[in-house]
Amino acid sequence: MIEIKGFSETSLLDWPGKLCSVLFLPFCNFRCPYCHNHPLVFHPEQYATVLLEDILARLHSLRTWIDGVCLTGGEPTLHTDLPLLVREIKQHRFLVKLDTNGSNPQMLENLIEGGEIDFVSMDVKAPLDPFRYSRSTGLPIKLKPILESIEILKRGRVEHEFRMTVVPGLHQEEDIRMLGDQLRSGQRFVLQNFNPENPLDSSLKNTVPYDPKVLKKMERMVQEMT
Ligand code: SF4
Repeated sequence: MIEIKGFSETSLLDWPGKLCSVLFLPFCNFRCPYCHNHPLVFHPEQYATVLLEDILARLHSLRTWIDGVCLTGGEPTLHTDLPLLVREIKQHRFLVKLDTNGSNPQMLENLIEGGEIDFVSMDVKAPLDPFRYSRSTGLPIKLKPILESIEILKRGRVEHEFRMTVVPGLHQEEDIRMLGDQLRSGQRFVLQNFNPENPLDSSLKNTVPYDPKVLKKMERMVQEMT
């Protein structure tokens, strides 16, 4: 079974409109220069593994408070036994949200088809062209699986959102507009501000995030589009 490397009992930020617990899963196949979860991506061994049985016991004691469980990473779909973990949580009658970078459309499709997940938040990194996407993910990647995941979500069989971390220098307003246009008919498109505290690429520490008001304006613009 997957080694769970972190457990946050309650979060109001990870599932729109819900209070959830969050499980952190290790490793990722992307290398986004702005990633602030990189210790979990590169060195998960520095975190103690949290036993699923302990988590389930705690979830039961939180049952009257929480609406569900968010699985995040790293990239959860890298783990071939993720569906087992999802099933185990569902058997205990908790809703499940999945955070993903969209690189494993087959697993996403299977989880949706099986009715096993209740919400998906897919990170989109840049306008959907190979150069810009690879620049934002920090390595050359094929766009095909990303496009497939987007199409799977846009079919609307599961509640979902697209989410983008906006980094000055990497993303201009025009990029966000272009991506909003490409994602048209998705349910929700939210923008997150870049956090310069501990990025994978340390040169980004000096990058000043967008003014929140400017970011909000951009978000309103793309939400109207999608
Ligand atoms: S920000 Fe990028 S590298 Fe970091 S966990 Fe997410 S997809 Fe992986």
